[in-house]
Formats: sequence, C-alpha cells, structure tokens
Amino acid sequence: MTTEELATWAGALEVRPPQEILALAAGRFAPRLGLATGFGPEGCVLIDMAARQALDIDYFTLDTGYLFPETYALWQELESRYRITIRGLRSWSPTLADAPPLAPAPWRVDADACCEARKVRPLRAELGKLDAWVTAIRRDQTADRAGAMPVEWDARFGLVKVNPLAHWSAQEVAAYAKAYHVPLNPLLARGYSSIGCAPCTTPVAPGEDPRAGRWRGSAKTECGIHERCAGSVRPTAPSTEPEGSP
Ligand code: SF4
Repeated sequence: MTTEELATWAGALEVRPPQEILALAAGRFAPRLGLATGFGPEGCVLIDMAARQALDIDYFTLDTGYLFPETYALWQELESRYRITIRGLRSWSPTLADAPPLAPAPWRVDADACCEARKVRPLRAELGKLDAWVTAIRRDQTADRAGAMPVEWDARFGLVKVNPLAHWSAQEVAAYAKAYHVPLNPLLARGYSSIGCAPCTTPVAPGEDPRAGRWRGSAKTECGIHERCAGSVRPTAPSTEPEGSP
C-alpha cells in the first residue's frame, strides 16, 4: 500500500462507522491483522464489533504481569463471551520462578525502561509479523493521539495502523457498550477512567483529565506505543466513499 493510497483511505474512512473500518481492514489485511487491546472500554467495544462480524483478526494484549486482578478477570470474560482467544504477549515467563519482580519495583526505578521492556519490546516483536494492527485510541485522549487517523502509516513500528475509534468520543463508546452489553472493567465505576498496570494507575477525581491517574506525579503520559513519529499519514482530500480496502 502506497502513501497515496493510505492518505486516500484515511480521508474516505474519516466518515465511516468503526464497524465498517474494522471490516475493511480485515478484508484487506487478514490474516496478517492484529487487534491490540489493553481492556479499556474502547478495546472491549472493538472486540465486540469484530466478534459480531466474525472478522479474521488476531487478538492480543500486552501482559506486563502487573495488571489489576479485575483486568485479568475481564480478559477471561471477554474470551468466554465472544469465544475468542486473546493472546498475552509477555517479556517474562508466567512461571513462579520467572514472575515479574516486585522488588526493586521496576516502575519506580525507571518507568520508561519498564514500559519498554514489558510493552514496547514484545509489541514490536509481534508487529513485525503483521501487515497492519488495530488500536483502540481516540483523538481526544491525549495530545499525542489528537492527530490519529482512521488508517495511517505507523512509522514507529513499520506497518499500517488502523484506529477505528479515532473520531469517536468517550460518550459514543459508552453508549455502544451500554447498548450491546459489552463487558467492561468494574474499576471504571470506581474512578479508574483509564486503566493500565496496577502500580502505575490511580483513580481520578471528578473534573480531572481522564488519564490523570496514569503515572500520576510524573511527566510520563504514554508507554511509548502510541507516541507519534514523523511519517504518519494524514488525509489529502476527504471524501465520503471508501475506495477498495485500507
Ligand atoms: S505501566 Fe508501569 S508497571 Fe506497567 S510496564 Fe509501564 S512502568 Fe511498568
């Protein structure tokens, strides 16, 4: 897929519903298409949309070993509800001897290095096997994500990145989840509006930025997966009809 094709697709898909973007991505890239979820509301909604259409997508998550018990339970619930497998990508072996260390706490020693080892590195290895990946990011989540397009070139990892919910609001995601009874993390109701690893996530107060609870007290806002690099594609000429596949 050329840069021009990607730009045309980005413009065309801007006005399409997420379900359609997912289906077009599967049609173009399956079986070398993966969907990465961190089990936030957006990821759960995307899984629901993909599963309802029985799309040929490889589901995976980054299992840092430090997720909340509620997140691990939700992982199982989603697999059971949709009859899918969500593979856990790990930089560690899930045996007692190799379990993630708790002392010294790696997120306190160097959070960037911890994210690099437990998230970015295993993700990079996985994405090297794919032609495209689906993410659950929305533009209004962070400044870095504000320029996300429905489909774009991921210069950081060297493949096509599909963001079906880029143009959706948190309210639209919540409305979909409610309408289709999508399983969500119970921590959401306890003030955890953005949920990552347990040691690096706190609840947020009313009126706070929804991601204020991530790496609270530090300047860190991203784990390094969705930071934008030069080279991402932006649409050249918005249109209302997609042409072919992304
Ligand atoms: S979010 Fe925290 S615990 Fe999880 S990988 Fe990053 S620094 Fe480590």
